[in-house]
Amino acid sequence: MGNNVKVYYFILFFLLWVKTTGGYAQETEQYPIILSSRWFHPSSPKDTLSTIRMVELYKPDRIDWMYCTNDSQLAQLRMRKVPYSLAINPQVPDSAGYTVNGRIKDFRGQKLAAPWMRNWKQKNPYWGCVNAPVFQQLFLQESYKLIDLKAYGLFVDDARFNDHATEWGGCLCEYCLTGFTKYLQDNGADSLKSSFNYRVFLQNEGIEVLPIKDRLIPLWIHYQTFQTQSVIRFLKTWRQEVEKYAGRPVTFLTNNYGGQWTEIYKIFDIGVAELPENRLNRNYLLARMTEADRLNKKQYFALSSDKEGKQLKALFLTYSAGSTLIIPWDVYIPTKSEQTANRYFGENQKFQPIYHLLRQGQKHILRTANANNKARKAAPFQIITESKRDSLNLHEYDFGKYRIVMIEIDKYRKSHTIKLQPSTLLKKENIQVLFPDPELVDIWQEGRNYKVIFSSELVILRISK
Ligand SMILES: [Zn+2]
Repeated sequence: MGNNVKVYYFILFFLLWVKTTGGYAQETEQYPIILSSRWFHPSSPKDTLSTIRMVELYKPDRIDWMYCTNDSQLAQLRMRKVPYSLAINPQVPDSAGYTVNGRIKDFRGQKLAAPWMRNWKQKNPYWGCVNAPVFQQLFLQESYKLIDLKAYGLFVDDARFNDHATEWGGCLCEYCLTGFTKYLQDNGADSLKSSFNYRVFLQNEGIEVLPIKDRLIPLWIHYQTFQTQSVIRFLKTWRQEVEKYAGRPVTFLTNNYGGQWTEIYKIFDIGVAELPENRLNRNYLLARMTEADRLNKKQYFALSSDKEGKQLKALFLTYSAGSTLIIPWDVYIPTKSEQTANRYFGENQKFQPIYHLLRQGQKHILRTANANNKARKAAPFQIITESKRDSLNLHEYDFGKYRIVMIEIDKYRKSHTIKLQPSTLLKKENIQVLFPDPELVDIWQEGRNYKVIFSSELVILRISK
């Protein structure tokens, strides 16, 4: 056997080995059930919500993205053996709850709040600047406190910091200005004097306010790169220091917008993407999951919607794509008034039984089929639409004891009729409507078939085998 052939066999064997171990990992991996109680409830005597009640109901594998520094509250979670990651954000206060020092500044040297937060009634609206030493120290000290509170991980909410602020015309604080001069000198502008001041330079160019639309700002593209690199440096240092302080493994999480893994988000291990309703489709989720797998990251999703049907759809789509939907309780939803961020608290009766099924049916949920997929031939029934013109999207999920069928209708019509044509004996009492409310769906037997009539865009049935 020649050397080349040996190498070939070795590579083949190696590929097979990788493939097998990869498959094994996928099959045994648990899809975690994650609660994201953003604050520990009840947060006041009038708050009827309870984080502990949710923990007892859903039995989550962990809590992520929670703001809490109260050790006696956290002790209640530790007692129940629920790991938690604790959240920190650019608005971490430095002075008795206020954001005073080391903050992002605008063109005029005034502190700059994020545009979407300007109407929120907050005591701490100003983001810290990653180039300001006082903020670097503050962020570390506050992170150490969360480590001391026995968080398994730290969740940075809005991890883009200065990189994001370039979109609102910041940061132009003294540290950023001197830092930028140094950046230019290090990147080809050898003859640039150290007294160069970007703000003065822009003023001389006739610019009096930032951001400005429809006009090229001189050197701004370099300024953005400088700020992105500043954030990357800040977060890398922070991560190293936190790990050193903890003396144990720490997981780093962030809300990566749109499930993207930019250079900034890549510093983290786990991303939670808040999906808008219009991104809720299987192909999008699969693309995001593939990217996360490639980078050896974990990608989870929350849906920014107060519509029960959309949340249920998200639940099935995310888990069947190999991900997780954060329990739709205390999740962010956008509001028109912009006075505050709104939260959605899904009804336990709707969601808990499905999470319970997921917990029980872990081994089976990967087997999912689409209407166009041949795999549905294995189903104990066929689904037939009354009208051929209906564009129908069918997903089936095998949960072992149960089969979940989710049917979406794209086309608006007053009502839809589908037929369940059983190939094995199917009894009516074995068909349970999970969505919409059962009284809005008619099911009756017609010969060997069942007719299902509904008027919503989505129907979810649970069929016992
Ligand atoms: Zn700055």
